[in-house]
Amino acid sequence: MNLDRTDAPRVYLETYGCQMNIADSETIRAILRRAGYAWVKRPEDADAILINTCAIREHAEERVLGRLGDLARLKHRRPEIKLGLLGCMAQHNRAALVEQAPYLDLVAGPDSYRRLPELLGRAAFDPAVDVRLDRGETYSGIAPDHSGGVRAYVTVMRGCDKFCAFCVVPYVRGRERSLAPADVIAQVREVAARGAKEVVLLGQTVNAYRVGDAGFAELLRMIARVEGIERIRFTSPHPADMRDEVIDAMASEPKVQPYLHLPVQSGSDRVLSAMDRGYTVGEYLDLVARLRRAIPALALSTDIIVGFHGEDDRDFDATLELMRTVGYDSAFTFKYSLREHTRAFKLGDTVSDDEKARRLAAAIALQERISLERNRAAVGATFAALVEGPARRGEGMLAGKTPQFKTAVFPATSGIGVGDTVMVRVESATAHSLRCSLA
Ligand code: SAM
Ligand code: SF4
Repeated sequence: MNLDRTDAPRVYLETYGCQMNIADSETIRAILRRAGYAWVKRPEDADAILINTCAIREHAEERVLGRLGDLARLKHRRPEIKLGLLGCMAQHNRAALVEQAPYLDLVAGPDSYRRLPELLGRAAFDPAVDVRLDRGETYSGIAPDHSGGVRAYVTVMRGCDKFCAFCVVPYVRGRERSLAPADVIAQVREVAARGAKEVVLLGQTVNAYRVGDAGFAELLRMIARVEGIERIRFTSPHPADMRDEVIDAMASEPKVQPYLHLPVQSGSDRVLSAMDRGYTVGEYLDLVARLRRAIPALALSTDIIVGFHGEDDRDFDATLELMRTVGYDSAFTFKYSLREHTRAFKLGDTVSDDEKARRLAAAIALQERISLERNRAAVGATFAALVEGPARRGEGMLAGKTPQFKTAVFPATSGIGVGDTVMVRVESATAHSLRCSLA
């Protein structure tokens, strides 16, 4: 279909959740653009409104339900608008959603995006529901509409086979599958041609990537040969899949940056085992030691869940202790949220919401202190910063990322632009950024 822009049906798309969802939205855009749809920036201007959703915690779902209420009012005024819910929440709540939100015209899970043009066409009287999970769907052959900029995200594997007891991802995103190396390389070349300097490889367990003989280490080495790409990052690796070959590739390929987001979840062996994470605290610490030996400049961040089923004060203290021992550069901390379908759902909650809030505040306060300490230790050192744009705060300042993925803020100077790499010296530090001069 080759519609004139003015005749083309207009779509508005809103995205919630993780980086993977943002990348999925770029795939959705490419699929609908090919089918002749045009994009609008405001829901009021659209013929179809799509929301790409997250189901990881209850709070994420509540936000989407609130937003759906607003959009339903718009649809009430203009009933011809089609309203569609996509992604993890569509997969997670399919049946309930059609009842809770009867005004939805379309419900489509993460493996159904190729069929979106057909589903949008079909959604006339009854809602079109497509939540089939497809073990083979990698969206191969579809070049996502990357939004441009210095950094581009490329999904290299989808789904997850780990089934951690708390997590809904394997149920809503299906089983693990990897995109063929040739498809990955084609996407990386394309984003490089559009001016991206940094590529971030995405997957729920990205280091479990495998197609035939090519594992994640081989993939990193292949991408390192793509011209124009200066920096390579990836997220999230699973500690149990962090093989020596991957550590070697990180250490020996200069384009692979010395930063790793390595989710630990808990510092208690008892809790890790109940979560079914597949490693002990000792094994995790051993991995951290091997990584730091191989990559001395490495920065580490993590994910932590507080208040999982059965977590007592001693378990939580062990988590704080682990945070101190590792000395993470930053951490994402979450209150445990009971998710239907997961194994831990049946076990219920044993920690009250107040207590979860107390533990969360304690973990955040500790991390702030550790981040500040680590950033202050960088004062006086020089780093190569990849310029991303004007700093959010500070007139006449630019912001960029160091190899360790820390935000460096430095004076804008003529001749320095977005996408350049400049040497900066750290003058002072907060827990969240480095104030620098040009070195
Ligand atoms: N695959 C990644 C891993 O295992 O490291 C994480 C993917 S998940 C989108 C991001 C984070 O959300 C997890 O690392 C975990 O800390 C958190 N999370 C997942 N399920 C949760 C739940 N039921 N309650 C609270 N946090 C949760
Ligand atoms: Fe969820 Fe665990 Fe898979 Fe991460 S590894 S997506 S936490 S099941």
